[in-house]
Amino acid sequence: MDCIFCKIIKGDIPSYTVYENEHVKCYLDINPNNVGHTLVIPKKHITDAIEMDSETIVHINNALKEVVSILDKTFKPDGYKFAVNYGICQEVKHYHLHIVPKYKNEPLISDIKEVYEKIIASKE
Ligand code: 5GP
Ligand code: ZN
Repeated sequence: MDCIFCKIIKGDIPSYTVYENEHVKCYLDINPNNVGHTLVIPKKHITDAIEMDSETIVHINNALKEVVSILDKTFKPDGYKFAVNYGICQEVKHYHLHIVPKYKNEPLISDIKEVYEKIIASKE
């Protein structure tokens, strides 16, 4: 299947992975809205929110909590926007949850490699 996010799961396309388990992969958005903008995706190909099943959504929600905990530790944002696009709003047709940190004062980092390095450093 010609799905860009399935290729990321297989490792054919690199990603800055923040958190991963057997059900989900969470990685930095390549074109972030904010510092730490992360996507949570299921490892099985599910097209969108309407095709999502009740078992997988639990894994997505558990991963959301893991990612928030990691981002809280690294960047201490003041809040988050959690968003799932659909239809003409959804560019990539593999379900993904956007985790977008919100800041009163956003950290001055523009490069996602640097964002990733700070996340790794705060895990150590
Ligand atoms: P959508 O509009 O489908 O909800 O958003 C798709 C998101 O996927 C966009 O924010 C876009 O920047 C991100 N994206 C698209 N291609 C890639 C990619 O190859 N790698 C990563 N990390 N993010 C991607
Ligand atoms: Zn896919």
